[in-house]
Amino acid sequence: MSLFSVSREEAAARDADDPLSEFRERFDLPSDRYMDGNSLGPISTDAERTLERVVDEWRERAIEGWTEGEQPWWHYAEYLGDRLAPYVGADPEEVVIANSTTVNIHTLIGTFLDHVADTPGAVPADESPVDASGNVVVANELDFPTDHYAIRAQFRQRGLDPDEHLRLVESRDGRTIEQEAIEAAMDDDVGILFMPTALYRSGQLFDVEALTELAHDHGALAGFDAAHSVGAVPHEFGAADVDFAVWCSYKYLNAGPGAIAGLYVNERYHGLTPALPGWWGNEKESQFDLELTYTPEQSAGAWQVGTVPMLSAAPLEGSLDLLDEAGIDRIRKKSLELTDLLATLVEDLSAAGYDYAVGTPEDDDRRGGHVAVEHPDADRVSQALRERGVVVDYRPPNVIRICPAPLYVGFAEVFDVADHLRAVIDEGAHQEFAESEGVS
Ligand SMILES: *Cc1c(COP(=O)(O)O)cnc(C)c1O
Repeated sequence: MSLFSVSREEAAARDADDPLSEFRERFDLPSDRYMDGNSLGPISTDAERTLERVVDEWRERAIEGWTEGEQPWWHYAEYLGDRLAPYVGADPEEVVIANSTTVNIHTLIGTFLDHVADTPGAVPADESPVDASGNVVVANELDFPTDHYAIRAQFRQRGLDPDEHLRLVESRDGRTIEQEAIEAAMDDDVGILFMPTALYRSGQLFDVEALTELAHDHGALAGFDAAHSVGAVPHEFGAADVDFAVWCSYKYLNAGPGAIAGLYVNERYHGLTPALPGWWGNEKESQFDLELTYTPEQSAGAWQVGTVPMLSAAPLEGSLDLLDEAGIDRIRKKSLELTDLLATLVEDLSAAGYDYAVGTPEDDDRRGGHVAVEHPDADRVSQALRERGVVVDYRPPNVIRICPAPLYVGFAEVFDVADHLRAVIDEGAHQEFAESEGVS
């Protein structure tokens, strides 16, 4: 008798009924079990098509591509911002693609620090649409590190001690951050609550609306790093009245390694001068007047810095064609079903005495697109899985991240992945590997 409470046949039957199963053939996968789409989404024929179109335009039209491209390059960042807006529930002019996520954190945290009353040299409150006073930023100890590097640097540049001004909410269990703990960190000295929409390690999904309300109740702004949810989880930043957000395009948006990032700025802040101004964020109409004074574009486009990197933006267009066709609500629904199945099978393993545990919240509303499978030997188990063609990643100290991305992973494959988790231990396959160093 199998130790799993769901059989492979039952899982395969769900694939037969799955309206999204047809999308798999649109992707080129390096392995039949690619479970790492939360780290780097795979290439699709759609993404390749738009990339190749832009390469052809470069070859055939060169400089004229700026105005004569099928989607003129000159407006491409705004065009793709419009296309992304529905994925975050925003108005088109509130979203643009620009920079990398890290750079976007620098410019947005910097911009808003310049507008909260207690920052040295802040823009006077009566000249600013920003209604926040404190200059403490609340983040959390389970954040992706780059976010903290950027925030700390922005404090230093304003003569503020990062150790005093960056307040980290602690985790009780090392996996998740509790709403009460965030509430306890909010005081009158807080200017910005900056949180992930989903934690990169455990996959805990936060309640964006509740956190935004919490921040606003304390006279603070609410900003989000949505790198681990855009393209997997629908967002309603506008309805929730979020102040600003950033995300990347190479995870669930499948736009390619280092693809251009995205950002959202609530329209009430359009017209502010960004902390990292550049000519690409200058008012479009006067950009080529080449004046030496900067005039911000009256949209999120102002937070662009330099020239839109067309070759790292073009794949996003095709990828969005595919995502639009699949529909984000169907994507989210299947993602929840896949992660639920995976968590169930991992629980079966732990009930049977294996050292696996699920580190991701059970509740659908609290779960992003991946499952954190914990094991004391996670590093070596991850390597053994990869050798078997199950592409996962390891995050110290004990997490195997497994992402059954709904556009190219099916239910039977999730079963197979769980069975590999079992087999690696049964066969001691992980013991042949050394602890890894560097990138895993
Ligand atoms: C992936 C990720 C980033 C990556 O930032 P880059 O500037 O694209 O390297 C930042 N923050 C979070 C939470 C992430 O998951």
